[in-house]
Amino acid sequence: MAQATPEIKQRVQELRQLLQKASYAYYALDNPIMEDAVYDQLYRELQELETQYPELVTAQSPTQRVGEKPASNFSSVRHNIPLYSLENAFNMEEFAKWQERLLLRTTLREGQRHAPKIEKFEYVCELKIDGNALALTYENGVLVRGVTRGDGVTGEEITQNVRTIRSIPLQLNIEKAPAVVEVRGEAFLPLEVFEQINQEREAGGEQLFANPRNAAAGTLRQLDPKIVARRRLDFFPYTLHIPGKNDAEVARTQFEALELLQSFGFRVNPNRKLCASLEEVGEYYDYWDIERRNLPYMTDGVVVKINSFALQEELGFTQKFPRWAIALKYPAEEAPTVVKNISINVGRTGALTPLAEMQPVQLAGTTVQRATLHNSDRIAQLDIRIGDTVIVRKAGEIIPEVVRVLPELRPESAQPFQMPTHCPVCGQPVVRQKGEAVTRCINASCLAILKGALTHWTSRNALDINGLGEKIVQQLVDKKIVHSVAELYDLTAEQLASMERMGKKIAEKLVNAIAHSKTQPWARVLYGLGIRHVGSTYAQTLTQAFPTVEQLKNASPAKIEGVHGIGPEIAQSVYQWFQVPANQALIERLREAGLQLAAEVKPNNDPKSQPFSGKTFVITGTLPTLKRDEAKDLIEKAGGKVTNSVSAKTDYLVVGEDAGSKLEKAQSLGINQLDEAQLLEILED
Ligand code: NAD
Repeated sequence: MAQATPEIKQRVQELRQLLQKASYAYYALDNPIMEDAVYDQLYRELQELETQYPELVTAQSPTQRVGEKPASNFSSVRHNIPLYSLENAFNMEEFAKWQERLLLRTTLREGQRHAPKIEKFEYVCELKIDGNALALTYENGVLVRGVTRGDGVTGEEITQNVRTIRSIPLQLNIEKAPAVVEVRGEAFLPLEVFEQINQEREAGGEQLFANPRNAAAGTLRQLDPKIVARRRLDFFPYTLHIPGKNDAEVARTQFEALELLQSFGFRVNPNRKLCASLEEVGEYYDYWDIERRNLPYMTDGVVVKINSFALQEELGFTQKFPRWAIALKYPAEEAPTVVKNISINVGRTGALTPLAEMQPVQLAGTTVQRATLHNSDRIAQLDIRIGDTVIVRKAGEIIPEVVRVLPELRPESAQPFQMPTHCPVCGQPVVRQKGEAVTRCINASCLAILKGALTHWTSRNALDINGLGEKIVQQLVDKKIVHSVAELYDLTAEQLASMERMGKKIAEKLVNAIAHSKTQPWARVLYGLGIRHVGSTYAQTLTQAFPTVEQLKNASPAKIEGVHGIGPEIAQSVYQWFQVPANQALIERLREAGLQLAAEVKPNNDPKSQPFSGKTFVITGTLPTLKRDEAKDLIEKAGGKVTNSVSAKTDYLVVGEDAGSKLEKAQSLGINQLDEAQLLEILED
């Protein structure tokens, strides 16, 4: 067996201290110091280390006990039967493993007794109500005692408070009640009440309850039953035990026991379900993952129990858990993990973004191993160091981020992190402007900036070039094949085929995909240019107002800002971008490559409503911004026809600089003339 290294011993020791502290704050003070999911994961880590190195297990370890001894003024009562905790599974794979272990266990037992083999179990699925377990005792049908779970062996007697819970019958609805009936279940605070209590506490300057479970625990242990009554606690029962009778005499299954509890006058949670297979359990679990958000109380998972009491009895208990039940919890959105390194990413704007490289961790159903640390201010605020145990969050679609550090688990050698003074890609000094949180590389020829620009250009909302991902971009830049986005359009299949892991067929496909991107509309091209502050929605707005690149290029900041929805920051950024000669050259290269630099006027099915419908145009001279083809395109898209020579049938002559004989002829025939500005004005209208 492997020997625990001093680092492992230290980690085990620190985990234990932190979990003990958390457990005390949670159970005894009703004031948790960390999120449940974080506690669960740290607990698991400790459990795994203890399994791997059994010599490190001690009787005081949090893995060896249920809950905490309560700290209160109520008298202690020893439970007749201990109140156990539940084993946890965090997904269906873990549940399947648990089931496999149970099946193996029953097979072994049957092997000894030559009993028939169990192929699968029948389960009862119940919602896991996030409250506090209570043990109720009825004597001759009358409620005589209510006790909290406490540390599972002894709890606190809180009968007065329990009597205020309206869904707990004071008298059982049984004609000839047994001498003693024991009922266990979950006392909880409905969400609405929880929010109301916290509002009141906030108004009164009191500390807020972290969650409904702690609020319920705090309420149950109130010394003044009047306050408890006001707080409207609620209760769902889930265990029935009648001493002196074996379970089979009361009910044969958990499902029957729940029905019986209902007939005794309890309100049993209606969302229970008999499940004949693992798949059905999975369906129940998935269904309630969504639906639980509509319940008026908190649930943090599903409790799956083997239905048959006979089988439950055979399986029995471990020191902490029943073997026949498991809590199937929902994926956490926050979890602890260890930072292995802090790397720096240089983006297309030159911004240096620190990233935490972490031990992989499951969050909201995905594996996360990198999280953004935003900038040096955020690093300083978190005081995050390599080797730290941190809490990462991934809620919904948000990029994972580090929420906080657990300093208790910090290795002694951990040093504060310093942002680099030079760009890790090009080696040039970086700058951080006054008032800005971001550190930037300002070397325009930094390869990281080019890589970023190319990746942005090919991305889904920009030119959407399928197959041209980060890895290929990296090679194209490193091998000095591509120096700007325009050069992508010069790439040949042979050049691409020389890239790592790229066959001839894929290379040809990629060349086609690049060529196809030339049909992407002007708005996507504008977004793809990566002008600061111009996201894809602003790009749409701008291209609607400026249907050609020339119009946008020639627009003053005031004119750009005049567009509805565009602010001064965007206007300045766009204006300045177009002033840079290298950017103007890029636009020309893109035009030569055949990209769309003008908005496509939507085809109108009603020819009568098109502005130039039925009209014939001739273009002469050099127009100030539009090329001949562009002007022709715009006229045709607006329903007009463009011919080469002036005749009596010509309706309009579009006149540019240095117009020659066509102008003279048009004048002699009395044909209307338009300059470019007038043409565009009509089109814009
Ligand atoms: P648990 O809450 O994971 O599961 C057992 C409990 O589930 C039972 O005792 C019972 O009260 C409850 N339950 C709800 N519905 C049930 C049903 N239908 N059938 C059976 N039982 C049902 O285990 P636990 O031992 O009570 O507490 C451990 C949990 O407490 C940990 O998973 C952790 O999330 C939390 N905890 C958090 C901190 C913290 O610092 N945040 C500290 C200690 C413990």
